[in-house]
Amino acid sequence: MPVCPDCGSIMKYDHRRSMYVCKNCGFSLTREEWSRIKSSKFKGRDEEEKEDKAREYLAWWLSRKK
Ligand SMILES: [Zn+2]
Repeated sequence: MPVCPDCGSIMKYDHRRSMYVCKNCGFSLTREEWSRIKSSKFKGRDEEEKEDKAREYLAWWLSRKK
């Protein structure tokens, strides 16, 4: 189950929009975007590195949307 990269809440899959949506803050991700965040998050060698990579990816992803 995806966790919101923005606020840390569980995200639910919205079948109508084909996206994961955070019920807490409204943040939404497509499956593809989530799988990219997930792989960037879990490939690091230690916990801190994983966190940094996920944050870097998220920052890049958010800046891309503006
Ligand atoms: Zn959220």
